[in-house]
Amino acid sequence: MLDLLIRGARIVDGTGASATTGDVGVRDGRIVATAASQKGGVGESAHRTIDADGLVLAPGVIDVHTHYDVQALWDPGLTPSPLHGVTTVIGGNCGFSIAPLVPDAVDYVMQMMARVEGMPIDSLEAGPEWTWQSFGEWLGRLDGRLAVNAGFHAGHSTMRRVVMGDAVHEAATPDQIEAMVALLHESLQAGALGLSSSLGDAHTDGDGAPVPSRSARPDEFLALARAVRDHAGTSLEFIPGMGEISDDRIALMTDMSLAADRPLNWNLLGSASPTPVYEQQLTSADHAAAHGAHVVALALPDVMRLRSSRMLTSMPGWGEVVSLPDAERRTALADPAVRDRLRAGLDAARERGVAGMMQWDLVELPDGRTVASVAAERGTDPVDVLLDVVVPDALPLTTIFPSLVPPMGMTDESWEVRGEVWRDERVVLGGSDAGAHVDIMCHANYPSVVLGELVRRRNLFTLEEGVRQMTGVPAALFGLRDRGVIAEGAHADLMLFDADTVASEPAEERHDLPGGALRLYAGAIGVEQVIVGGETIVERGVLTDAVPGTLLRSGVDTDTVTVPGNH
Ligand SMILES: [Zn+2]
Repeated sequence: MLDLLIRGARIVDGTGASATTGDVGVRDGRIVATAASQKGGVGESAHRTIDADGLVLAPGVIDVHTHYDVQALWDPGLTPSPLHGVTTVIGGNCGFSIAPLVPDAVDYVMQMMARVEGMPIDSLEAGPEWTWQSFGEWLGRLDGRLAVNAGFHAGHSTMRRVVMGDAVHEAATPDQIEAMVALLHESLQAGALGLSSSLGDAHTDGDGAPVPSRSARPDEFLALARAVRDHAGTSLEFIPGMGEISDDRIALMTDMSLAADRPLNWNLLGSASPTPVYEQQLTSADHAAAHGAHVVALALPDVMRLRSSRMLTSMPGWGEVVSLPDAERRTALADPAVRDRLRAGLDAARERGVAGMMQWDLVELPDGRTVASVAAERGTDPVDVLLDVVVPDALPLTTIFPSLVPPMGMTDESWEVRGEVWRDERVVLGGSDAGAHVDIMCHANYPSVVLGELVRRRNLFTLEEGVRQMTGVPAALFGLRDRGVIAEGAHADLMLFDADTVASEPAEERHDLPGGALRLYAGAIGVEQVIVGGETIVERGVLTDAVPGTLLRSGVDTDTVTVPGNH
């Protein structure tokens, strides 16, 4: 008797192989039988059967770059990721884990997370009680409590603060490096998936000073990387900075990968750079390969969408009108003199070179239409759309940053170029930053963007390849044991969706963080079921209360992925 039988699905197995129609049988959380419909399907009966006729069954998506560390303590669903088919997340990225900890580092780490990852400090304080210390103790807090599988890196900046106290902005002494290495060994032993770190120029702590890892010298990075080598199923995550990557940082990433004998993934390819830098950035992978190392870039398989409502208030003369109470604001907007003044303010801003922010074909209303397209529909000027539609109803605006090839905007050609980059072997899809910067963006939705926009609408990937890039590829990179594919013996982490309708909903504002703080939240269309370890965690867009997620521990739930080496 099976626990679950999914019948007649179009199976896309995560390996890139052509889809087949058939059945998948699950027992004790694992896939125990698969059979093509033409061969009669799986004959065994089951406690629960899902008729998947007309639907695609794929492995659950593995989102390798999230910051769900804190949210995991209050939100067992790690929303909204599972709504988009995500069944496994990795957190503790960029050097910012919330363990290991000592009491005197709690406030610093909390303020650092709030600043660097855009998490509301009220929520961090109102949410969990920050009483854990060792990495293992913290993992114990989450064990058996999450809907999805989750693994976490030990963060360099956090460990550096624990070891160095207030001296985090100085170079570490040999003793301090040794203490950090010992703490990392202990954390990896307890199940941390690897080491994360950052030299990102924008990464500042609660006081606005560089995060601790930015004061590390190469010998410190390499000492920590060497410690990773001693632990099975581990990996490295890093941020080399924004824009072009300097030669010494390219060399550092190669050296870290070699020292650890593990792949190193860095983010974020292209990022919000105003000029195309991805070709130069990808040479870091070539340099690594030439030296026997393995370095890959994470790329967000979408354009970046950032909330930009404050853009208008910062325009000359706009703030005083925008901030009026509703009725008064609408009255003011009806006054031709006020309208002329606001127009003049925009013109002045444009002359000062803020024009980039006023590309109205890259500014979206909440319903996903751009200001330019609404203006075209109404036969008016884009500024009239602001004065007649946006400001009267205080509608939030979102600015699109056309990732990788900004000068090409959102043209079809730009999507073709992005598709080519996303298919490059030096690139892994991810970089959602889910759980971070929650008030200005929501890229946790990238799986349904890939399936709806990139696969169905734009044909940048076949369905099989789009699925593989989000499942089999990340599973192999991180050595996630028996995950990322549909095969007998694999964990039954699955998503069932309608390939003809799957898409993301536009992000909306929700005030549902602890303390009532705001976040952006996008649901999905066309995702019928999301299954973790054989249990349904999402049914037609609604989370069930099931918490079958496994807390992924290195060496237990992961296999060792080595690099070719320095021969
Ligand atoms: Zn990050």
